[in-house]
Amino acid sequence: MLADPHIPERPSLADALARRILILDGAMGTMVQALGCQTENTDELNLSQPSLIATILRQYAEVGADIITTNSFGCNALVQRRHNRSEDAPAMALAAARTARRAADAEYARRLAAGENRPVYVAGSIGPTGLSLTMATDASDPSLRESDFLSFKEAMKAQIAALVEGGVDVIQLETCFDALNTKAAICALEELGAQVPVIISATVSDKSGRMLTGQTLEAFYHSVRHCPNLLAFGLNCALGAEAMRPLVEEVARFSDLPLVFYPNAGIPDAMGRYNEAPEEMAAVMRSLAQEGLLNIAGGCCGTTPAHIRAVAEALAGLAPRVVGPASTGHPVLTVSGLEAYRVDASVNFTNVGERANVTGCPSCGWCQYHRCEYG
Ligand SMILES: [Zn+2]
Repeated sequence: MLADPHIPERPSLADALARRILILDGAMGTMVQALGCQTENTDELNLSQPSLIATILRQYAEVGADIITTNSFGCNALVQRRHNRSEDAPAMALAAARTARRAADAEYARRLAAGENRPVYVAGSIGPTGLSLTMATDASDPSLRESDFLSFKEAMKAQIAALVEGGVDVIQLETCFDALNTKAAICALEELGAQVPVIISATVSDKSGRMLTGQTLEAFYHSVRHCPNLLAFGLNCALGAEAMRPLVEEVARFSDLPLVFYPNAGIPDAMGRYNEAPEEMAAVMRSLAQEGLLNIAGGCCGTTPAHIRAVAEALAGLAPRVVGPASTGHPVLTVSGLEAYRVDASVNFTNVGERANVTGCPSCGWCQYHRCEYG
């Protein structure tokens, strides 16, 4: 597709991030429901009702989002298998990206016409699928998994390729709760040789700040820090903005990447409604930004254009988090299991051992990925 000659080339997301806090959009699923569309498969709407998706994205762009997100959280064979639509998953992802690209470019053109040179970027959403490569689903069979690493990687490859073809500016691996799932997506990115920047956003299961697999956020960060073109790291969804404040502060302590934070509008009530008002959420986001903690800010489940407008207004003019090396300047070996482990000058003796099964483990993604002799 030829670029519109009236639209100047967008500065890179990295350049934009260096200058200001970027506003990410809000929820898609709850907005679809709010517009009276009851569907079990929100991803399928990219094909059947693209105008509905475009309307929601346009609303987010109009209230000031710098980044709008494709409606592609589950546009992969693993999720679509539940709807008997596996084969259509790449087409759904491609349509999602094209719809968002058009909405972003239209809003950028409108802003330019109004004398405002502020681009709208498109993030290609990839959800965690709801499947876990780490955790067994049957207590009586600890080796049983809902999927395997290679199937996962192939599904991610198809989704990423379609999103990139559709014109996204960044791939957004969001709601990550299992490092092995995220690793499969990273392997997919590597195999595709995709030059596209990547955002990784984790989610936690409770205030302890652990992910569903039991890993701490810092351990997860070190597990995925090798991702090529990793642009930003942070948190989404989970507990609402205020309850996640300590976790945002924690990420800012250990991460040397721009910090992304887009909480849900509080924890849903018994009826499944998200009740945090735009002003409440915006006030928390503003105080986080005043502490110098945010680089990308938006909303997750239950947030609306009103939330994003309030957040954009609350953060206007506030400086982005200054991103720098989290360490003292000396290179530090950092490794992770469930928790992070730093081998720095304060550590006198570290016993390096091997706990992998030397006979190979069929359920281990790493053995499968490397086609290890025994795996
Ligand atoms: Zn959410």
